[in-house]
Amino acid sequence: MLGANDGLISTSSLVVGVAAAQSDHHAVLLSGIAGMAAGSLSMAAGEYVSVSSQADTEKADLALERAELKAAPEAEKKELAQIYVSRGVDPETAYKVAGQMMDHDALGAHARDELGIHEQTRARPLQAAVASAASFAAGALPAPLLVAFLAPRWITAAIAAVTIVLLFVLGSVAAELGGAPRWRGALRVAFWGVLAMACTILIGRWFGTVTG
Ligand SMILES: [Zn+2]
Repeated sequence: MLGANDGLISTSSLVVGVAAAQSDHHAVLLSGIAGMAAGSLSMAAGEYVSVSSQADTEKADLALERAELKAAPEAEKKELAQIYVSRGVDPETAYKVAGQMMDHDALGAHARDELGIHEQTRARPLQAAVASAASFAAGALPAPLLVAFLAPRWITAAIAAVTIVLLFVLGSVAAELGGAPRWRGALRVAFWGVLAMACTILIGRWFGTVTG
């Protein structure tokens, strides 16, 4: 979601900025495609690095836990039982449950209930990288598509209109998912989109005049 917003705002701004600077249709299209590729790869790299360090932390925590289980199994059983007690189980039952769970899968029980590491929520760097690159690319796609299929004089107006509408949609869906008022989320993200496009158009005009 956030990646799609990024892709939409940055690529649309880039394209309208280049279009304001010069009128070569091919160069405008190329800027959109390059912006889309660069942004997606940069998102993938950033996500990969951050989720990898999260995965390293999880791996180190699990290794430590495995060593503790080997060195002091009884203390670990009491520790796990104490966690169940703090969640409302009576001490005797908690100790029994801890024992049975550790007989079944000691590391798994400690990973879940002590460290909060679950199989479904484990850090997966590659999947995270692909997902955020794809989401950026999906958001970035409308701008170069409009350039490819529209006459040059319509490009800026069409990109601005489509971008604002899509930002409204993304913003209100994100607000809805987050349980916030829809119009507020939509207005907030659309405001930044308008600001970004206005800035790059001004910068493009200015540099276009200075260098052209
Ligand atoms: Zn433990």
